[in-house]
Amino acid sequence: MNSAHTLQKKHRYITPQQHITKDTILLRALLQKNREFFETGKTRDVVFRITQLKMLKTAIKANRDIILKTLWDDLKKPPSEAYAAEIGLVNHEIEYAIAHVKRWVKGRKAGTPRSLSPAKSMIMPEPYGMVLIIGPWNYPFQLILAPLVGAIAAGNTAVLKPSELAPHSSQALADMIGSTFDREYISVVQGGIDTAQDILGEKFDYLFFTGGAKTGKIIMSAAAQHLTPVTLELGGKSPVIVDRSASIDLAAKKIVWGKFINTGQTCLAPDYLLVHRDVKDALLDRIKQYIREFYGENPKLSKHYGRIISQKHFHRLSRILRSGSRVIGGRTDESQLYIEPTVIDNVTMSQPIMQEEIFGPILPVMTFKSLENAASIVNSMPKPLALYLFTGSKESREYMIRNTSSGGVCVNDVVIHIGNYHLPFGGVGESGMGAYHGRTGFETFSHMKSVMIKPQNRDIPKRYPPHSKTGSIFRRTSSKG
Ligand code: NAD
Repeated sequence: MNSAHTLQKKHRYITPQQHITKDTILLRALLQKNREFFETGKTRDVVFRITQLKMLKTAIKANRDIILKTLWDDLKKPPSEAYAAEIGLVNHEIEYAIAHVKRWVKGRKAGTPRSLSPAKSMIMPEPYGMVLIIGPWNYPFQLILAPLVGAIAAGNTAVLKPSELAPHSSQALADMIGSTFDREYISVVQGGIDTAQDILGEKFDYLFFTGGAKTGKIIMSAAAQHLTPVTLELGGKSPVIVDRSASIDLAAKKIVWGKFINTGQTCLAPDYLLVHRDVKDALLDRIKQYIREFYGENPKLSKHYGRIISQKHFHRLSRILRSGSRVIGGRTDESQLYIEPTVIDNVTMSQPIMQEEIFGPILPVMTFKSLENAASIVNSMPKPLALYLFTGSKESREYMIRNTSSGGVCVNDVVIHIGNYHLPFGGVGESGMGAYHGRTGFETFSHMKSVMIKPQNRDIPKRYPPHSKTGSIFRRTSSKG
């Protein structure tokens, strides 16, 4: 580990004006270098960007085993699951950006109204400058590196702040980035909330945050002090709705997979189940069967089932477990931060389980009589990151898509739409603002500048005062003025 990449709060110097720590001084020096690097103009060269993306890809490949090991150390993440979600997804983003960034940097032609003709109009992307990417602990590589792909492709320099709750992964990320990139170009700052707040006190040109809604508000108000634009990738309660026409067996299989990967600690995991009352028993039966098939009679012994990130989250989830009646699972072991895949029936909207994002391996179940009824339950809560619907009916599908609001919708599957880099990924309302992945990631980290180019010797004399008494100055147009 290059210690210059790690700023830890050890020495605090207090002046009458403000708290200045040694880390603040180091941080400011780092940011100054980062800004100077941007000002050299190197990152504006698209070949430079492609080279850096290729270097990132090579570094990920070389660090594959370390990445998988640290994910196991932090989260007991099964390697095949970790590979797909943390490495595979990022690799696809990198490859797609390498293949398309030359086209993206050219920008887009835009029209020109006749009244302003002749002119050429276009939308030209330009890098913001120095960007800050703050990540959570649940997918500690993917949620820092996937935004970084957009930031590099768009020509920015970057400071990365991974989560302190996944310390092994955070360290491995710092090592990998430190040995791959000039630290003036991309660097990792490790630390907890204090460190995050120190960083947020400084001015960045763009701020990209993934985490909880409560922290999102803090991030946004810090950004407001510098009028820094933000993307907030937050969470929420994503419903999974199973209607009468759904293929029940496959719905159960996919729901079990999406709910319990990463032990339910996935922003996109189905948070709660809304099932048509006529098919509830059949669905719960199949869910029980698939839990057993995937994780065995005792999931605690399964190599394919992880653990809760911290004691704090274990206790939070244990409290949530007291809602309703357990129909599947429910066993816990604090010494291992283990919570069994659990399904809870007979919940009500006023219980804690339906009042907060669960972010753990607990699936509450509610029934509905009609899709209108299901939509009104969804709409009574803050807008979620995703809405999942299992149905064989086109009308049901159209109805739910048109009558609910969510960051995204995935019909007859869960979670996997995150891997489609042709689709923007992001939330709405309390699940976030802004989006990324693929071209959207490039545009998120670019200022999309409007450019209008007029021929130098043409003019519209009528726009200059003194004006005639009649009508708009632009009413009659002439390319010769
Ligand atoms: P968190 O908000 O607690 O922490 C995220 C980051 O913010 C960490 O790096 C942390 O150090 C920093 N942070 C925490 N408190 C801070 C404060 N007061 N001031 C400044 N920085 C602070 O989130 P988490 O527990 O790491 O992650 C879980 C949440 O993230 C869930 O709500 C989940 O839904 C959401 N999430 C969203 C996505 C998405 O893509 N939309 C992906 C993963 C997780």
